[in-house]
Amino acid sequence: MNKPLIISVENLIKKYDDFEAVKGISFDVHEGEIFGLLGPNGAGKTTTLEIMETLRDKTSGTVTIGGYNLDKSPDFIKHIIGVQLQAAGYYPNLNLTELIDLFSGLYGIKVNATELLGKVSLIEKAKAKYKELSGGQKQRFSIATTLINQPKIIFLDEPTTGLDPQARRNLWDLILEIRATGTTIVLTTHYMDEAEVLCDRVAFIDNGQIIGVNSPDQFVDNLVASGFERKKEVKKANLEDVFISLTGKDLRED
Ligand code: ATP
Repeated sequence: MNKPLIISVENLIKKYDDFEAVKGISFDVHEGEIFGLLGPNGAGKTTTLEIMETLRDKTSGTVTIGGYNLDKSPDFIKHIIGVQLQAAGYYPNLNLTELIDLFSGLYGIKVNATELLGKVSLIEKAKAKYKELSGGQKQRFSIATTLINQPKIIFLDEPTTGLDPQARRNLWDLILEIRATGTTIVLTTHYMDEAEVLCDRVAFIDNGQIIGVNSPDQFVDNLVASGFERKKEVKKANLEDVFISLTGKDLRED
């Protein structure tokens, strides 16, 4: 049986001047789900995500998050969601511990920075500045910042873009661990393997419209049932498998 709904988006429209970037989309997310927004560049994924995050105004439609209506109770929504802060907000002279203290102060709460950094395997970097981190470490820190207010839902926009295969897998493990604590996760990605591993359900958005919502497994089964066949016999491994096999999957100083 499906878990209760935690997000409901109905007939969402977003216009930038005359241009309609999101054209009346509707979807639901269940509690504890990892839900993926997939689709080509410019499809409207980030726009949709940022409207749910209360970071962008919508043109019309109804968005309900954790039982709160976005128009009536945006502040209640802000309390129960975790949002990745833009890198520009990472003051260059503060180290990671100080940044977490600063951000938690903005929420009006006190968190144990060491414990939070531990969750994302960054304890050794507690005294490092954001600009001194590698790409994978920056992403992990960014995910840590979404957890500061112990949110019910976190939003991740392309969390693994630009990371090496090993760092991507480490982030997948982190995302799955976060979900295992009961947190609902909405993410965007351009990596279909990532969506297959992580997402319970995905919505394909194209040109501002949803063209399908289903589990990855069901999408693939439906395509196969329609007579689709891959043209080439695939090998039992690919170059990414070679990368992982040669370099190992363990967390390292990426
Ligand atoms: P990508 O995969 O490339 O990140 P996306 O699916 O996240 O794309 P959006 O960033 O939501 O797409 O953009 C959707 C459309 O809206 C694009 O055509 C984009 O140019 C346009 N758009 C986004 N933000 C603005 C803005 N602030 N002003 C005007 N147009 C915008």
